[in-house]
Amino acid sequence: MQRQILYNESQIGDDKVKSAKTVLTKLNSDVNINTYKDYIDEGSIVKYLEEIDYDFIVDCSDNFKTKFLVNKIAVEHNIQCVIAGIKDFYGQIMTIKPRNSACYQCVFSPIDTPPDEGPLPVIGVTPGILGTLEALEVLKTTLGLPNLENKILMVNLIDLRFNIIDIVRNEKCICSQ
Ligand SMILES: [Zn+2]
Repeated sequence: MQRQILYNESQIGDDKVKSAKTVLTKLNSDVNINTYKDYIDEGSIVKYLEEIDYDFIVDCSDNFKTKFLVNKIAVEHNIQCVIAGIKDFYGQIMTIKPRNSACYQCVFSPIDTPPDEGPLPVIGVTPGILGTLEALEVLKTTLGLPNLENKILMVNLIDLRFNIIDIVRNEKCICSQ
């Protein structure tokens, strides 16, 4: 729980979506929050997308399979998306604007990606920093400011280095079909 800023010990045993909504509603009661307690798979993600006309998907998942699925759905439904990943002191983040920028699968192959073998080691501050950067990407993309389209930001919190790598769209990728 040390990295889960929406939660505290009094909520142990509560549904995470319910607790998150309670805390966020106290922060800003003018925001409407819809919660879904479910696992993301091809069926559920499409079902939820059909309910509301979403502007942005923020991937906060902890496994490659979900990241590839979120990327695919974002591309197919033409929804802007930011995907971040972390492992101990390292992270990476990219923003996808379907039909304009490279997507997650332009860079990472679902075939070459190592299988998910349970939870990766996490240092509490790393998801906090990457999550905040994802929120920043949503703001900047929405405001038309420079963002991480066609770029990956590599975050190294051991050496405190932030490096940006330019990426190009793969003409054979799902986003170019
Ligand atoms: Zn692609």
